[in-house]
Amino acid sequence: MTKMTETNDIFAEAAELIKSVGKKYKYSESNLESFLRPDREIKVSLPININGRKKVFTGYRVQHNNARGPYKGGVRFHQNVSRDEVKVLSLWMSLKTALVNLPFGGSKGGVVVNPKELTEKELESLSREYVRKLYDVIGPDKDIPAPDVNTNPKIISWMIDEYIRIAEKEGNKFSGDALFGAFTGKPIEKNGLDGRVEATGFGGAVVLNELAKKLGRSPKDTTVAIQGFGNVGYYFSKFASDFGFKIVTVSDSKGGVTDKKATLKNGLDVEKVLECKLEKGMLAGCYCVGGVCDINEGKRLSNEELLELPVDVLVPSALENVITEKNMGKIKAKIIVEMANGPTSPTAHEYLSKKGVVIVPDILANSGGVTASYLEWKQNIEGGKYKKEEVLEELRQILSKAFAKIWNEGKNKGFDLRTASYGIALKNILE
Ligand code: NAD
Repeated sequence: MTKMTETNDIFAEAAELIKSVGKKYKYSESNLESFLRPDREIKVSLPININGRKKVFTGYRVQHNNARGPYKGGVRFHQNVSRDEVKVLSLWMSLKTALVNLPFGGSKGGVVVNPKELTEKELESLSREYVRKLYDVIGPDKDIPAPDVNTNPKIISWMIDEYIRIAEKEGNKFSGDALFGAFTGKPIEKNGLDGRVEATGFGGAVVLNELAKKLGRSPKDTTVAIQGFGNVGYYFSKFASDFGFKIVTVSDSKGGVTDKKATLKNGLDVEKVLECKLEKGMLAGCYCVGGVCDINEGKRLSNEELLELPVDVLVPSALENVITEKNMGKIKAKIIVEMANGPTSPTAHEYLSKKGVVIVPDILANSGGVTASYLEWKQNIEGGKYKKEEVLEELRQILSKAFAKIWNEGKNKGFDLRTASYGIALKNILE
């Protein structure tokens, strides 16, 4: 989570980067300046009852751009949420949806709250109040929120419930199942999508597999280190293992694990690692290979050590800004797949790209999540229900196609993958 004091810098940095890519693509300064400005920034007051007294929380929704279709973006609940943070996240959503050619624009929302300090009832009131305040500007053809940091399918089920309650009272151009298209990331029993949970990690593994083909790398001879073993990190590890890649180390907030002498020769059994983590409450004692977990064969390591291992592929899947000026000189991986949002600082990106490291940018690597959200919205609007296998197959096709386009653009113009991705996204929005 970005600290409030850093958020202005993050927006300025993002804007600079987009302007420099835009110039390479011959867009005028005024065109780029106008694109960078969000269409609408909304701030709302959210009063709820806490122990018999009213407490007012602040909420935001920034609708950045809808040139390609309804605005699309998550809502986060966190004490450090600020207008600028929500603003930069909405801009990245516009680029991400355009990059994979979805009929969506970009938006983001947030509430300044530490949800851990609220009871479940209070959290429900806050979620419903957020929808009441924003009802007029959200909807299946206007703006479609989803879960983000500290919001989950349960919170979304309160939100969609409130949205439908108001829609039925006031009259809405949508009705029946189509009304559920106002939110994505819903529980499956509330018209959610089977396969959404796996989608982001799966999409990242598909992109890595496509990249390996282009580089002539065999997955079984390619070692992978994964930082973060939550939703994204776990499913990335699982599907990358299924494609044959050798996951040699994984970590969570309490540290990671690899083989005793750090030879990086053995691929972990990631499903066993997850079972062991759930049982022990942490990952560092879970060295599992070939169906057996035995920490005597393994070695614990810190998150810093993991990033500096001589692996072929590094996959930051937890936090932003973990590869920076401080450690860029020690990174030995030849490929970085940015599954977290913004894990590589601009200075580190430039330094590593110059050294020949191939960096798959976040807006491509983790776009499986929003692509699955598109399928959820589509199934609500059009009626019907996707099966999980169909979802994964659609994702595979959409992301392989997007990757091929970005790869060719990079090769033809001599650009790194991030420049090529931003360039294609800008073209898809501005032309
Ligand atoms: P999550 O909460 O499920 O998992 C986060 C993981 O990171 C946990 O294993 C946690 O222990 C670990 N972690 C926390 N602090 C760490 C630290 N200092 N070092 C190492 N590991 C640490 O979250 P998630 O949904 O897996 O999201 C991970 C990242 O991917 C975030 O940056 C998120 O914005 C991004 N992302 C997620 C999705 C999605 O669909 N879930 C989509 C796009 C982007």
